[in-house]
Amino acid sequence: MSGNEKPRLIPTGKCWCGCGKDVGLGKFFAAGHDKVAEAALMALKYDGSVAQLLHAHGFGSHHSVRHAAVTDPDCSWEKCADCNYSGAPASIANHRKKEHPDRHVLAQAIRTLGGTWDPQRAIKALGEHGHTWEDQRAAEKRVRQILRDLCSNGLIVKTDPQQAVYDLVQE
Ligand SMILES: [Zn+2]
Ligand SMILES: [Zn+2]
Repeated sequence: MSGNEKPRLIPTGKCWCGCGKDVGLGKFFAAGHDKVAEAALMALKYDGSVAQLLHAHGFGSHHSVRHAAVTDPDCSWEKCADCNYSGAPASIANHRKKEHPDRHVLAQAIRTLGGTWDPQRAIKALGEHGHTWEDQRAAEKRVRQILRDLCSNGLIVKTDPQQAVYDLVQE
């Protein structure tokens, strides 16, 4: 399915659920009436079943709506770089803070501070944000992994093929 183009809708001053209420400037709905309208449409067209809704649009267990949302360039959905989670940008940011905190923190630190990064600097930066490991070896192993991942994601580049030393990629 391609062509995600939507008509530009203009608020009319009345609630779009059809209840007849006046609504504020720039608003489509009285408070909560968007959900009521959505439920009414779902009941009317799809027996209130999300499976019916998906099927009607060609999606289901074998044609992933999540995959379609992530790959459509007109759709804001993204996939997490570290796992299978997908969602709107705000939801991805929340997810990453919760599920991949050390990566998230290190990527932020590198972006903010710039310059050259080796495992020692990465461990120190994470330590300042309360990330600690049982021993130095575990810490090294983990930050090397994160630095490699951030490198393959294009945030940093390796400056010396022999060493785990990276520079922030200038945008
Ligand atoms: Zn209404
Ligand atoms: Zn994830």
